[in-house]
Amino acid sequence: MMKIMSISKKDPHNPNVIYQQLKTLTNAAGLPLVGAANDFEIKVQFVAKNSITPGKFKAHPSLPNTWFAHPQTIRALRPDIFVLGEDGLEDFESLCQCNICHQTFDRQFFILCPHCLRDLPL
Ligand SMILES: [Zn+2]
Repeated sequence: MMKIMSISKKDPHNPNVIYQQLKTLTNAAGLPLVGAANDFEIKVQFVAKNSITPGKFKAHPSLPNTWFAHPQTIRALRPDIFVLGEDGLEDFESLCQCNICHQTFDRQFFILCPHCLRDLPL
């Protein structure tokens, strides 16, 4: 518990911390929203596509857990990214604005600004 809290202070956008928080959530039937530990092991693939707006993702029409993204977006992604199902993620959206290019993006997915590739402060 203490360990999670100290990680959280250092990096509130760490997916492991968010995952710990998600595990405490339940759905309307009182069942955990995020259950088995292997939920966390889902491999997410990104396919470079220049027509996607930097900072955005578009689901692949047929391959599960595969997303199209601008090459710059893929470069800016955190290496430990994971994607959950339809439920639960919106609550953790953390929009922020880059202080260099002033574009907004969801902070939880990136270690660099997906628009100008500047380092993001934690
Ligand atoms: Zn920027």
